[in-house]
Amino acid sequence: MSDWTIQNGVLQQAEYIHSPNADVRPDPNDISLLVIHNISLPPGQFGGGHVQSLFTNTLNPELHPFFREIYTLQVSSHLLIERSGKVIQFVPFHQRAWHAGKSAYKGRERCNDFAIGIEMESTDDSGCTAEQYRVLKGIVQLLVEHYPLLQPDALVGHSDIAPGRKTDPGAGFDWGQLQV
Ligand SMILES: [Zn+2]
Repeated sequence: MSDWTIQNGVLQQAEYIHSPNADVRPDPNDISLLVIHNISLPPGQFGGGHVQSLFTNTLNPELHPFFREIYTLQVSSHLLIERSGKVIQFVPFHQRAWHAGKSAYKGRERCNDFAIGIEMESTDDSGCTAEQYRVLKGIVQLLVEHYPLLQPDALVGHSDIAPGRKTDPGAGFDWGQLQV
């Protein structure tokens, strides 16, 4: 992955699918936090492309009872890493994606303002595939090299910045896989 590149905030090796659920960062240069999430739709099921539908406001509420509860949410992340390791980008990194919600990192609120959000296709318990960890590790290294304010230790889970409200990426997520 040493040949992966970012141009105009877009990872050139990712598939790009535009999400309307994004806006301008208060300071587009302040990209200083990486937030890891997990998602699967329906919960616990992988594949199917429903995360892409959710992030593009096209999720069909008739397909599953859970979809009826969430299909009107306006959410997104910068990246989704599927079980195969395939990467999809929804929002350029210099724009604000809507993934963290009410949150705080080291006393600073509204983490979406200054964070990049990465969704892993997994559950709290499943952990990720070896390919997902490999790709994520490469992307973290690339982002740290590309964005000067992003320190290597500014890597957190959603549950770290929204404790009591969020549990992802969960106990199954192996942080040790990201060690350089
Ligand atoms: Zn999350």
